[in-house]
Amino acid sequence: RNMIKVSNLTKIYHTGTVAVQALKGITVSVQKGEFVAVMGPSGSGKSTFMNLLGLLDTATEGTYILEGKEVSALNKNQLAVLRNQKLGFVFQAFNLIPGLTALKNVELPMLYAGIKPKERTRRALLALQRVGLGDRVHHRPHELSGGQNQRVAIARALVNKPAVIMADEPTGALDTQTGEEIMAIFQQLHREGATIVLVTHEPDIARYAERILRFKDGRLISDELVENRIVSS
Ligand code: ADP
Ligand code: ADP
Repeated sequence: RNMIKVSNLTKIYHTGTVAVQALKGITVSVQKGEFVAVMGPSGSGKSTFMNLLGLLDTATEGTYILEGKEVSALNKNQLAVLRNQKLGFVFQAFNLIPGLTALKNVELPMLYAGIKPKERTRRALLALQRVGLGDRVHHRPHELSGGQNQRVAIARALVNKPAVIMADEPTGALDTQTGEEIMAIFQQLHREGATIVLVTHEPDIARYAERILRFKDGRLISDELVENRIVSS
């Protein structure tokens, strides 16, 4: 079953009189429960692709069907609602709110979704336990290590039970060992049924995924299963 299906996805940026074709007709599907890595050199269109999949921007041409829903014709507000309902995001720089505890950071997406306070707290605690941070829920970001902050961010991404988790260089700010621990969490979520799209420029991080999409000059140049996959315990 398709979770994501894009056809002929094209994006042209206009800057003054210059037009840059950042994506040149991408056609690809991601199945429910797949763990896919997106790779490619700088400027190849990875961020543009993720911004479109993440409903942060719309395509110039082509179609995008997310969990059976065609999103190309939606306006900005409709996209924002769908983004909060269907997608969870994890970023390189964690993007947590500095003044809020881990618990309050994880509760935020549910606040926007209109879930009642008690239920928010219950679900946030469960999500923090799931990423191994049950004993740090009242810590603020500056009281946590990089790896712990990324766990908080993963808990926040999970808490609305998203159709897809989108992770953009989630290990980029972490040392090798901590990065591996974070990838082990993504693999665990994948084993539990999550659909994950990961952008990374590190080949050893991409090998935690089961499939790699390679971009070059705005085109999808390869789409292959990972042969020498890293499988964490
Ligand atoms: P990557 O993430 O692989 O480095 P990007 O998607 O950021 O690639 O960029 C693809 C191309 O689109 C590049 O040529 C880049 O300069 C251009 N581009 C990206 N974002 C914008 C923007 N907001 N305005 C104009 N050009 C952009
Ligand atoms: P690591 O070296 O493993 O990345 P740190 O040395 O930053 O982690 O933190 C080790 C432990 O100390 C963590 O469990 C973290 O929660 C706790 N810790 C770090 N900084 C603070 C702080 N400012 N206040 C309270 N606890 C902290």
